[in-house]
Amino acid sequence: MTVAVLALQGAFIEHEQMLDRLGVAHIELRQATDLKQDFDGLILPGGESTTQSLLLHEQEMFEPLQKRIQDGMPVLATCAGMILLASAIEGQDAAHFATFPITVKRNAYGRQLGSFHTVSEVKGIGEVPMTFIRAPYVSEAAPDVKILAEVDGKIVGVRCGNQFAYAFHPELDQDTRIHELFLQTIANS
Ligand code: GLN
Repeated sequence: MTVAVLALQGAFIEHEQMLDRLGVAHIELRQATDLKQDFDGLILPGGESTTQSLLLHEQEMFEPLQKRIQDGMPVLATCAGMILLASAIEGQDAAHFATFPITVKRNAYGRQLGSFHTVSEVKGIGEVPMTFIRAPYVSEAAPDVKILAEVDGKIVGVRCGNQFAYAFHPELDQDTRIHELFLQTIANS
C-alpha cells in the first residue's frame, strides 16, 4: 500500500512522520508528474485552503485528484483539507473539490479560541487527543454523512464513503488511531 500526501503547503511532513511510524510507504504530490506514481489513498493536510487550492490548479493536479476522489479513492483530510473537500463553504461563492456533501465554516472558533487542545470521542475509535488550529467546523451535513466526532455541539469529524474529514490535526498528536482507521479503509477498498 502506498499513500500520497499532498505536499504543496501546510502540515504534510507531520502526516508523513505518522505514516513512517505505522510503517506505510508514502509519496509526496508536488506537481502533475507525481500523479503518475501508483498510490492507493490520499492525505490532504492542514494549512491554508485557499493557497492549497490555488497551487493545486497551478500545478494541474486539481482535476485529476478530484476525479480520483469522485471515483472512490480513500481520502483523509485534516483542517484545511476538510475545507478543500467540502461541497460548500459559508460566506464563499465557490467550493474546491466539492466531493464531500458538507458545509463548513472556516476559522469558526473566533480569535480567542483560534487554537485549542481537547480530548473527545471519535466513533469507532474512542477518546482521542484533538488539536485545533484556526479550525473549521461542519455546519451542515447531508443525510448520508456519518458524524464521527462532535466538540461543544459542533461537528468536527465526518465520513462519507471513503472520505474522512477532521477539523483538528491528528498528525500533531501521538495517537495513531485516526490514521490507522484510514489505512484500514484503504486495505478494505
Ligand atoms: N484556517 C485555515 C483555512 O481556512 C485552516 C487551518 C488549518 O488547516 N490549521 O484554510
